[in-house]
Order: sequence, then C-alpha cells, then structure tokens
Amino acid sequence: MFTSQDAEFDRQHIWHPYTSMRDPLPCYPVVAAQGMHLQLADGRQLVDGMSSWWAAIHGYNHPRLNQAMQEQMAQMSHVMFGGITHPAAVALCRQLVALTPAALECVFLADSGSVAVEVAMKMAMQYWLGRGETRQQFLTLQRGYHGDTFAAMSVCDPDNSMHSLWRGYLPEHHFAAAPQCGFDDPWDERDADDFVRLIEQHHPRLAAVILEPIVQGAGGMRFYHPRYLQRVRECCDRYNVLLIADEIATGFGRTGKLFACEHAEVTPDILCVGKALTGGMMTLAATLATRHVADTISNSPAGCFMHGPTFMGNPLACAVAVESLSLLNEGHWPQQVARIEQQLRDELLPLRAAPQVADVRVLGAIGVVETHRPVNMARLQRFFVERGVWIRPFGRLIYLMPPYIITPEALGALTQAVAEALTQEAHFSG
Ligand SMILES: *Cc1c(COP(=O)(O)O)cnc(C)c1O
Repeated sequence: MFTSQDAEFDRQHIWHPYTSMRDPLPCYPVVAAQGMHLQLADGRQLVDGMSSWWAAIHGYNHPRLNQAMQEQMAQMSHVMFGGITHPAAVALCRQLVALTPAALECVFLADSGSVAVEVAMKMAMQYWLGRGETRQQFLTLQRGYHGDTFAAMSVCDPDNSMHSLWRGYLPEHHFAAAPQCGFDDPWDERDADDFVRLIEQHHPRLAAVILEPIVQGAGGMRFYHPRYLQRVRECCDRYNVLLIADEIATGFGRTGKLFACEHAEVTPDILCVGKALTGGMMTLAATLATRHVADTISNSPAGCFMHGPTFMGNPLACAVAVESLSLLNEGHWPQQVARIEQQLRDELLPLRAAPQVADVRVLGAIGVVETHRPVNMARLQRFFVERGVWIRPFGRLIYLMPPYIITPEALGALTQAVAEALTQEAHFSG
C-alpha cells in the first residue's frame, strides 16, 4: 500500500539524493522488486536499467541471497567487531583476499563506499606517518567521483561536486586533466602528460594517487585507455607514491573483467570495493591493502589503524556478500556481461547518428548515450516510466547498467526506450 498521504509526506519531509525540499522532482513509489523488475505501487512493472546504481547485479529478491540473509539472521544479525570476530566476516574476507590481486591481503570492512574511500585515504596518510613523514596531499583525475563525505568529496571533480561551496574547509588536492583517449581509441602517449607533470612536481608531498580505474562513473561515465592506468602505476612506482584504486562502481564484473584494473594488469596498493559487493542487498564496502601498507601503518605513532565504525563487519551484510560472491564464482557473469555488451553495442551505437547525440559508448554491461544538451530530468523520467523502464538520466547522460540476469527482450526494451527518448525535443532543455 502506498497512499496519496504517503506521497505527500515524502514530498514534504524526506530528502532524496541531491534534491531540493522546496521543489522536489516526482518520486515513484516502488513496493516490490523481483529479478529484473521493479514494481510500482500502482502495479506497473518496470524493467530495471540501473541495478540500483551498480549494485543489484544478480537481480532483485534473489532466493539465494534472501536465504543467506535469513540463515544469518537466525544466528545473529549484528555483533560489535571490536574484540569479536564471526564466521560471516571471515568467510567474506577470505573470498575478497582470494578474488583480488595476490598482493592485497589485508581487509577493512566499511559501511559504505564513501567510508571505504575515507578509510583508504586515512590508510595512505597513516602509511606515511609510519615512515616518519607527514603527507596529506592526493593526486587524482578531473571528472572523478569518490563519494559524498568530505574527504571523498575533496577528490571528486571540483566542478561536479561544487568545491566552491566548501572553499576554506575542503582540503585542496591536485587534479590531472581527465583522460581523453577512450577505451577503444588508439593510445596517445600525450594523454598522460598532465598526470606525469603533476606527479613529478608534487610527489614528495603526495600520500597517494586515487582514481577510478578505466571507468569514471558518476563524474561523467567516461571510459579511458588501459595504457593511462599503466602510466599511472609506473609513475607511482617511480616516485614512490601509493596507488588507491576505487573499484566501488567497477568491481565484480561490470566492465567485463572482475575488476577494472585487470584491463591494464595493474595492481593498486589499496583497493576500495562496495556497491555490488552484497548484490545490492545491504550497504557494505571494503578497503583492501597490501601487507606492506598494513605493516607500515602499524609503525605510525598511533600503532594501529585509526578507524572502527559501530556497524563494522555487520554479519547480515557479510553473509549476503559471501553468497553474492559465491554466485559470481559460479562463473556465469562473463558470458552474461559479454552478451549484454554485444547487445548494447548493436542497439546503442547506431544512435550516434541522432542529432541530439554527442557520443555513445559501451563497455561491459555499461551503455552510455551522451547528449548535446542536458536532459529534462522530470519529463524524461516520466517518459521512461510510461514506457515501462527504469532509467535514471542525469545531466547530459542517459545510461544503462542493467542486472547481469537481464534477458535480451528486456534489454531491448531499455535500448528502444532510449532511442525513442532521443526523438523528442521536449526531453532536452536549453
Ligand atoms: C558510488 C561510489 C562511491 C560512494 O559509494 P557510496 O556507497 O554511495 O558512499 C565511491 N566511489 C565510486 C567510484 C562510486 O561509484
């Protein structure tokens, strides 16, 4: 049940992501979700094109994920992680250590992606303290996105995340020009020039480089060349700067590799994962570090890593993450993602010819249509819902990242809705 009073209360009292309390855009009440469908309160079924922001890779209401959580709930839903451990956390961290590059051995369980990034940045700073140096600057890329908490925001694209609002409070870091060579473009060595210049100039004060490998997500849905990432790794080695890879969006198969770093065969010193970690069931993230980083942190004056959230290692979240990773380990995702990629290429790339379209790009189970003009969010959202699909555009981006279990027919409904949206002037503003 969802009454008109519920809708009115929501409008009057509840903030949604990046919304105004005064002029909220309409919100659609969802009362159930099953497989690749969201069910609206009025009974309509929408094909899900978003995986609830990269997370619900196995689809919704998955019986095995539900069962894993129910079994854990029958044992214990939560217990503090200070001085206590539990089987679900051990099983999860064992899997994470096994799935990620061999050098990443030490796992910190965080409550959300932003916290995992905060933790990674703290680790880098404490690492240098452990070496007797104070290093508090980070080098990152323009058009990046790393979360909404303050340290994470300080390494997000300065324009997108409106650093101007927080001037004087937000630490000022270094931003290399966003990579221009696309994933499939011929590599141009000059693409990394700005990055190289900045690391040469600032390395004695840099705690770490932090970036999203290969796919820049919320900062523009841009796919860059694997050679760029290789250059970054080489520079970090040459100048002795840690590399933090934020795989919160890209991790767990989305780009066609289990982790996007694999496209460049690069291993970071610190790795953040989140979003799809629990298959979209619970908030949970993790920050993994090398043994060297972990040991050096222990040499810092604090003698330990200075972080410990109340709900750290929540057993329900860990148990469902274990099951989600087991589903991935069964090995269907590479074919599922490859099939989605092929269909997205077949059905989205021809849209390059449409007059509204500036660019179309596809990588793994991610399809992006970039338009010349910003979308009229409210109108376009309504159009998509009326077409029976859930696609959430922003700015000049209409993008798809469906659950891996999506059928070809349902994916076709998504791409067709995008194609039709482009034919209507009223869907674009300005
Ligand atoms: C979503 C995201 C985050 C933040 O994760 P939250 O769980 O929303 O805090 C950080 N980095 C990247 C690359 C993301 O896509």
